[in-house]
Amino acid sequence: MAFQLPELPFPKDSLAPFLTPETFDYHHGKHHAAYVNNTNNLIKDTPYDDLALEEVIRKAASEGATGLFNNSAQIWNHSFFWNCMSPSGGGAPTGKVGELITRDFGSFDAFKEQFTKTAVTLFGSGWAWLALNAEGKLELLPLANADTPIIHNKKPLLTVDVWEHAYYIDYRNARPKFVEGFWDVVNWEQANSQL
Ligand code: MN
Repeated sequence: MAFQLPELPFPKDSLAPFLTPETFDYHHGKHHAAYVNNTNNLIKDTPYDDLALEEVIRKAASEGATGLFNNSAQIWNHSFFWNCMSPSGGGAPTGKVGELITRDFGSFDAFKEQFTKTAVTLFGSGWAWLALNAEGKLELLPLANADTPIIHNKKPLLTVDVWEHAYYIDYRNARPKFVEGFWDVVNWEQANSQL
């Protein structure tokens, strides 16, 4: 069963000026789409063909099927990432996530500083994640390339994509400016919905 490229959860012009429609034309319309197409080509007529996406990711990771893991995890990571942003987002965290951030980081400002540092200092391509570990504590994870919390027994709550393709059209090499802008659109409702 072939995977489909999900629609963006917002109009592609609705996060401007943080991200322009051109970024979504490439990041969603080309990069995310390519991960979907590559995965579908890799699983065709294989035992992976009937599995759900998360099962494909876990099985590929456990079997060392690197190409399939990279492409299938990137489908999942991008679908999750789009939902971490909203035209009505931004501001301080609400609900249970807000309480956990205060409990585990001391304050939203301290969390924001540490998450930003995690995202800005991740070397090369990858993702900065906020995840809940098996002990119920929040963790910041700098994960390289396609790596994803779901294969590490951690529940992802929030992520920002820091591959250059995520920001190069709008910010060129200035990753810190891109990460700074993320806070204006961060979707705390999505984070709370994962708990
Ligand atoms: Mn990306």
